[in-house]
Amino acid sequence: MKNILIAENAGFCFGVKRAMNMAWNELDKTDNVSIYALGPLIHNSQAVAKYEERGMVTVATIEDIEKIEADKSISGKPINNSKEMIIRSHGVSKTVYDEAKEKNIPIIDTTCPFVRKIHYLANKCYEDGKQLIVIGDKNHPEIIGINGWSSHSAIIAKNLEEIKNISFESNKEYFIVAQTTMNEKEFDAIISHIRSLNIRVEVENTICSATRVRQESARDLAQRVELMIVIGGRHSSNTQKLVKICQDTVDTFSIETKDDLDKDLLSKYNTIGITAGASTPDWIIDDVIGFLSEL
Ligand code: SF4
Repeated sequence: MKNILIAENAGFCFGVKRAMNMAWNELDKTDNVSIYALGPLIHNSQAVAKYEERGMVTVATIEDIEKIEADKSISGKPINNSKEMIIRSHGVSKTVYDEAKEKNIPIIDTTCPFVRKIHYLANKCYEDGKQLIVIGDKNHPEIIGINGWSSHSAIIAKNLEEIKNISFESNKEYFIVAQTTMNEKEFDAIISHIRSLNIRVEVENTICSATRVRQESARDLAQRVELMIVIGGRHSSNTQKLVKICQDTVDTFSIETKDDLDKDLLSKYNTIGITAGASTPDWIIDDVIGFLSEL
């Protein structure tokens, strides 16, 4: 029988839980309203599928909503009286709010309050004439949203190498924020490099405490087991950071659901640790625990 240990902080964080509840409540209470999500609600296809079965429609842009609504009227399909658009916990840029308002689409705003705070800082930095630097992945929706609050003028760098390629100017004031799921150690290394450059810089560590605690408990558990299993979406940034943290210490499997587990590969491990990304629902974690318990 396997010895299974679960990380103290695994699975849905406060922001994702809040967003999922808000979206579900909206689906529950609204009749005759088409509910659109601007982008997958979370980076977990199984959880998103549950919401779509309940009636939510995932779209990539506001134009997609307009097209779907227009197609309904052409095809003679029943048209709901109104529509709403969910903004997910990653947040979006200011232009999305403006466009929705202009097109008369009510918003269900599930932006995580921690991300909302970065929007405020980015906007203030822009208005104060400072140069915003965002430490994070330029393709991640959270970073695209943050950049939009500084009129898309931010310098975005994901690691120390990219920071070293920036030509800092002595007459500029810089303001630094981090992607909420950034690895704390990498961020510290970047900041100590920047501080050594003798430029005018202000730093706001915006790494979310939920991320920090989850990463610490994964690192701690990885030291006590023979194998770590990290459960979460392949496109989930915070999940992939957990994978990297665990891999630095011990053999690690990155999976989305229990179906990705291979009994033969598991056979050589007796003590197995489990952690999960911020967008992994409890029922997927329970499924994995159930599968391992049966071995
Ligand atoms: S990881 Fe942190 S910032 Fe991101 S949604 Fe969760 S609580 Fe909010």
